[in-house]
Amino acid sequence: QPLLHIQDLSVSVEGAPIVQGLSVEIHGGEVHAVMGPNGTGKSTFAQALMGHPRYEVTGGTARLDGKDLLAMRVDERARAGLFLAMQYPAEIPGVSNANFLRLAVNARRGEGNALPVLQFHRQLTAKMKELGIEPSFAERCLNEGFSGGEKKRNEILQMAMLKPRLAILDEIDSGLDIDALKVVAQAVNSMRNPEMGVVIITHYQRLLNYIEPDRVHVLLDGRIVRSGGKELAIQLEERGYDWIRDEVESLE
Ligand code: ADP
Ligand code: MG
Ligand code: MG
Repeated sequence: QPLLHIQDLSVSVEGAPIVQGLSVEIHGGEVHAVMGPNGTGKSTFAQALMGHPRYEVTGGTARLDGKDLLAMRVDERARAGLFLAMQYPAEIPGVSNANFLRLAVNARRGEGNALPVLQFHRQLTAKMKELGIEPSFAERCLNEGFSGGEKKRNEILQMAMLKPRLAILDEIDSGLDIDALKVVAQAVNSMRNPEMGVVIITHYQRLLNYIEPDRVHVLLDGRIVRSGGKELAIQLEERGYDWIRDEVESLE
């Protein structure tokens, strides 16, 4: 059974159809890249899976470990192991990064299974060090005054602490310089394991030089129009997206 099984998913935003019949199967241990030009529905796909109320699922199914994701509340999806690192992470004034993370980790672990505080802080310190995040970050308010790159690293920190079943990284590479990109890639690679699936949403092939995807999907106008191996990403880098659009249109 695939870890994530999406069939014919359609999503509307404010009444406009954006994702239109998207199907994909992701197995444990796999990394899939979803690529496509701006405005083709990549973030819409991710937000709909997480259950963001603005994104209305108008058709299809989405199952995580066989369970109907679309029937779950947002918190239930997170507990089931779905994780989204967002393109534009929210700032939460008044809540420290460490406290936010501890709540999130314990919510994921479920009632009666909270991580002892000391153990949590030990894990947090170790992961922050691994990710090259300043120790003072733990006590700063969530994402408040963080630079773009710091927010992205913080999302990866959340992922490392939460140990999701399926992690979706939405343009985690945007705004990162090459060194930060390598740190993020290395962290994701070190987390790769047969129990976890990863979806990397990106516009550019660059990140995929460092995180090797098992599958690459091209999203155009809310549809997956091509799937292939990592060579597809390289082809896109060289040729852009227009040739695929032309090919798709000539087949219609
Ligand atoms: P991508 O992530 O591929 O760049 P998006 O999923 O963000 O694309 O957007 C796809 C389309 O949906 C765009 O035309 C965008 O304007 C629209 N859209 C996405 N999110 C919203 C929103 N919250 N409100 C209004 N329109 C949206
Ligand atoms: Mg975009
Ligand atoms: Mg986007």
